[in-house]
Amino acid sequence: MTQPLLLGCIADDFTGATDLANNLVRAGMRAVQTIGVPKAPIEDVDAVVVALKSRTIPAQEAVAQSLDALRWLREQGCRQIYFKVCSTFDSTPAGNIGPVAQALADALGADFVCVTPAFPENGRTVYQGHLFVGSVLLSDSGMRHHPLTPMTDANLVRVLQAQCPQSRVGLVPHEVVARGPEAIGERIAALRSQGVRFGIVDAVGNQDLMALGRAIADAPLVVAGSGVAIALPANHGLSPSCDAARLPPGEGASAVVSGSCSSATQEQVREFIGRGLPAFEVDALRVGAGGDVAAEALRWADQHLGQKPLLVYSTASPEAVKAVQQSLGGTRAGELVERTLADIAAGLVRRGVRRLVVAGGETSGAAVQALGVRQLRIGPQIDPGVPWCHAQAEACGGAGLHLALKSGNFGTPDFLTKAFDLLP
Ligand code: ADP
Repeated sequence: MTQPLLLGCIADDFTGATDLANNLVRAGMRAVQTIGVPKAPIEDVDAVVVALKSRTIPAQEAVAQSLDALRWLREQGCRQIYFKVCSTFDSTPAGNIGPVAQALADALGADFVCVTPAFPENGRTVYQGHLFVGSVLLSDSGMRHHPLTPMTDANLVRVLQAQCPQSRVGLVPHEVVARGPEAIGERIAALRSQGVRFGIVDAVGNQDLMALGRAIADAPLVVAGSGVAIALPANHGLSPSCDAARLPPGEGASAVVSGSCSSATQEQVREFIGRGLPAFEVDALRVGAGGDVAAEALRWADQHLGQKPLLVYSTASPEAVKAVQQSLGGTRAGELVERTLADIAAGLVRRGVRRLVVAGGETSGAAVQALGVRQLRIGPQIDPGVPWCHAQAEACGGAGLHLALKSGNFGTPDFLTKAFDLLP
């Protein structure tokens, strides 16, 4: 029989889900990320992170999807639920964090819920309820201009209160957190007795997150960025070890597909080509003119597939990208290139590639869709924020494939070759 899950997580977007799962694995939990709500139980795992795409959809839909995920997680025996939200609290007064947190708390009968997007390792700290991004208040950071979720108020007590008019929101200030788990517990009890249901928790360093993690060991619900994840495995007697990150051995051909044009990726592509490894450039203008560039790339790949990685890339300089966008239109250019690279990724896997690195956030999303990936077991970290995963994917039948999804500016210059050296 499958063991009950120790922790059930609901993430409001895909990369946030990976970030959370990566932190859980680093702290000793075996974690699987699923794309949407799974249909069946998952074996040999401590935590499941259900990735939704609910950050900016209408609140009612976000609530319905989150409750669906909650139902499945509870069926798997989870006693604690982690609602993962953005570390910059990407959510305006009309946003979804409050309504979803409220609905989950109601469903779980949770009368008090700690809320904190703090992740000091990544420069996200909360002090007196105010969220800082690096050294500046959230409302002074670039997030104030975010196209979908502009953040003009850094006071999270106020932001969350505006989203949850039916509940009271309070604060667990740093002076309390710094005194440790017992003090946090006392503050929670005091707030609860005053009828406060949500408490924004200050945290400016890892020790604060560790204290909070101990204080909420028995809480049915926590609402947080990925930071609190570093503290929860210890509540189950788990500690950092390589075991949690163990994946099946890698076999089959290796490939990289890159649609990221970020400067780190440009350097990584240059480095890969500089090593004399095989590389095929996808010409975005030819894609726009209707050429079947995916078929050409796959014919080329047939000559080069093997243990050594090959690279198919559309990565280009800002000037080249601008020229393509002027010719095709920005949105259309992006979509056409994403679709072409996704078709190439799926074609490579059908040809036997079982170790695949995809560079680019949007490009990864398109590739995951084309590959029919339903779930990812999170493995060892290649560079901060980018783990190897083992994916169950329709494109390769039951055996699965190793996949690393790298968003634009992540990774050292030798990432595209180093990644393959890190797989057994
Ligand atoms: P990153 O994570 O670096 O932002 P993304 O994959 O999220 O990378 O975004 C890159 C976008 O640029 C995608 O929409 C991709 O299709 C598009 N793109 C990639 N190469 C080119 C190119 N040569 N010309 C125009 N657009 C491109």
